[in-house]
Amino acid sequence: MPNEISVTPLWLENAPIPPLTQGTLPGRVDVLIVGAGYTGLSAARETAAAGRSTLVLDAGAIGAGCSSRNGGQVAYSIKPTFHSLRERFGTDIAFGICREGLDAVAYLRSLATKEIDCGWREDGCFFGAHTARHFAAMVREAENQTRGLEQRIEIVARADQHREIASDFYHGGCVYPDDASVDPTRLLLGLLRRALDSGASVVDRCPVEAISRTRDGFEVSTARGIVRARQVLLATNGYSGPLSPWARRRVIPIGSYQIATGPLGRGRVQELIPRGRNIVDSRRVVVYFRPSADGERIIFGGRAALAEKDPLACVQRLRRMMERILPQLRSVPVSHAWVGWVAYTFDTLPHLGQHDGVHYCMGYCGQGVPLAPYFGRRIGQQMLGLKEGRTALDGVPFPSRPYYGGKPWFLAPSVFVYRTFDALGL
Ligand SMILES: Cc1cc2nc3c(=O)[nH]c(=O)nc-3n(C[C@H](O)[C@H](O)[C@H](O)COP(=O)(O)OP(=O)(O)OC[C@H]3O[C@@H](n4cnc5c(N)ncnc54)[C@H](O)[C@@H]3O)c2cc1C
Repeated sequence: MPNEISVTPLWLENAPIPPLTQGTLPGRVDVLIVGAGYTGLSAARETAAAGRSTLVLDAGAIGAGCSSRNGGQVAYSIKPTFHSLRERFGTDIAFGICREGLDAVAYLRSLATKEIDCGWREDGCFFGAHTARHFAAMVREAENQTRGLEQRIEIVARADQHREIASDFYHGGCVYPDDASVDPTRLLLGLLRRALDSGASVVDRCPVEAISRTRDGFEVSTARGIVRARQVLLATNGYSGPLSPWARRRVIPIGSYQIATGPLGRGRVQELIPRGRNIVDSRRVVVYFRPSADGERIIFGGRAALAEKDPLACVQRLRRMMERILPQLRSVPVSHAWVGWVAYTFDTLPHLGQHDGVHYCMGYCGQGVPLAPYFGRRIGQQMLGLKEGRTALDGVPFPSRPYYGGKPWFLAPSVFVYRTFDALGL
């Protein structure tokens, strides 16, 4: 029954966010960061560790945005291909941008294996082919990787796919054995701990209402008073509201919905996904799923509605999507359903830099688990003026479109068209 389903992300049950002490805000800081997700907390760690007084403010609870509600899948995540980037930027920049995607995964691997206990599991990912044509394209791509950007890829023929998933839904696929998964909330709490230990102050439930320039920096108006800051970082990603109309015109917030089954038992989950891998597929409107961090449930996500909806209203649709792939789940209960807003960009690249003196770092296109901690660190280093902060994305223009003010009116018709293409197997 829908009213028995919790709308709190499953992850928060095992790793609740602790309340933060609510003192008065300082009158002046060196660095003020708007948004306490992976990006903001990673940047804060850099600036605070370098001795800059750093204040992070979030409108909601810590991780109120995507960082406590994602799927925890870790993969190479620069969406445009090397070839398309090369056409736009030339070989060196294109290569550099793709390398950033690989470096982001390597950085998270190092954080998660050395510093933050966040349930890192390097079980790999099975990328299911929705059609035979998609499978042929996967094989071609695996055989023609760009030198220096190679990933390990294993092709799985349809006849062998039951070793990856107990389903005949796919036309084969490929495995990325080095992909991983984390418990998203434990990663968030680890990044929060690092920021606090470095000396940053982090304040929740304190929306930033306006940022205005002064002679020596910025005056930042918040729900709890004014703070003067020498530097400001917008780390608001898919939750970028009216605070910066400039940023809002550049990110496209798209709802991503997830459900968790009730506990099925590890044995049953293993029967369904024998190697415990993340699963994604080659459809335009993708679905993604994985065993929960404790291996007891399946967590299934995707774009469940044409226009944004209450997560409970999407349960039946997500369920049907899940059961088409795994009919064995037909009668199992769903215990949790939640939604979060990912930030797409018009060129499907992340962006970081400065506009009118305000730093920004956002636009991970649904792939911020590795990208946000990595680019958050880089923008923190840029704010310190360090050369380590340079990235191949520096100077890449952050595009918008005419008549776009932050409300993606084109989303419903686009999803409809993409779904139709998917249904036709195109
Ligand atoms: C359902 C779902 C599944 C996902 N699955 C995956 C996955 O499997 N793998 C992957 O790589 N990525 C995934 N993502 C994307 C990933 O979670 C995000 O890219 C990443 O968490 C972005 O982190 P962030 O810190 O930039 O933004 P967020 O975590 O979204 O934080 C932005 C913060 O800004 C705050 N804010 C906004 N405006 C203001 C203001 N005016 N004042 C103060 N605070 C403000 C918000 O409250 C929010 O907490 C998923 C996302 C969703 C929603």
